[in-house]
Amino acid sequence: MNKIILNGLTYEQLLELCRQAGVKAVHAERLVASIYRRYNTDIAAIADLPSALRRYLTDKACMFEPDCTASQQAEDGTRKLLLKMTDGREVETVLIQAAGRLTQCISTQVGCAAGCSFCLTATAGLSRNLSAAEMVSEVFAGQRISGRKVRNLVLMGMGEPLHNYDEVVRFVRIATDPRGMAFSPNRVTLSTSGLVPAIYRMIEDELPCNLAVSLNATTDAVRSRIMPINRKYPIAVLMQTVRDYITARGNKRVLIEYVMLAGVNDSLDDAARLCELLDGLDCTINLLPFNPFDAAEFKRPDDAVVSVFRAMLAEVGNVVVVRESKGRDISAACGQLKTETAARRRQSAA
Ligand code: SF4
Repeated sequence: MNKIILNGLTYEQLLELCRQAGVKAVHAERLVASIYRRYNTDIAAIADLPSALRRYLTDKACMFEPDCTASQQAEDGTRKLLLKMTDGREVETVLIQAAGRLTQCISTQVGCAAGCSFCLTATAGLSRNLSAAEMVSEVFAGQRISGRKVRNLVLMGMGEPLHNYDEVVRFVRIATDPRGMAFSPNRVTLSTSGLVPAIYRMIEDELPCNLAVSLNATTDAVRSRIMPINRKYPIAVLMQTVRDYITARGNKRVLIEYVMLAGVNDSLDDAARLCELLDGLDCTINLLPFNPFDAAEFKRPDDAVVSVFRAMLAEVGNVVVVRESKGRDISAACGQLKTETAARRRQSAA
């Protein structure tokens, strides 16, 4: 019989488990606090539980924390971890130090089906979705390995979060439940390549997190070339959806991500079109100069090009930040540590 993974259940599900074990609801509070506030992974070590509940849990449930199979630490303190999930498949998570706070980048799928041509993760395609419990377990591993409290979560690792909608929603609700992990919804950001119907579902479900949209181009011709999802949901449709999201969520600011690819989307005309697309939109723009990897078909733009592009956006009042990839001296591109580790294993097996 497959055991229930406790550190993947919502408060309500843990309450139901206590009810099934025939113990009072008050014990669910202790269980939640022990699991999600103290990141306890040992049922036997959960204090103050009635013996009936402890027996029931040991029999029916377990905790999951993935093994870390490879890691790299950059000079700027960024740490990249490769984590082995329940079936042996591996995903990356990244711990980023900035302004004294620790941010963790969470993977939501093993691989990705979105096929963005500037992304290394896309090259292997999608293996499977991660469960909410596996996403929670990434945070457990991040906390334990860093020895520090993770303050911000960004769902920007491997995978398109909105292709795994139900499990991602469950994860976000567990992460932001004030009785549990208690991340502020303002400190959890979900990044999408632009899955329009799922953004409307986020509105309906009032998902407690920020929205980031990976835009990366200013014409449909270029965006469809580098992001196949644009063929289904072109820029005009996506931008209207973003405007609807902002209105429906009471003027909640969104993040617009723009990966700059030399000679592809970094011209002055692109900057002018981006200003038009974002006119009046309550957003912060993150410019991300491309982080090259082996066999990439794109190049990073010169710093001068990035600087002029940024200035044009800022000149008309946009809030714009150039985000250098953290950990540029390690395998900084998403999917790079996994790819390099697999290559090393093949070499040593040969
Ligand atoms: S950029 Fe994100 S959505 Fe696009 S292929 Fe890579 S992981 Fe998937």
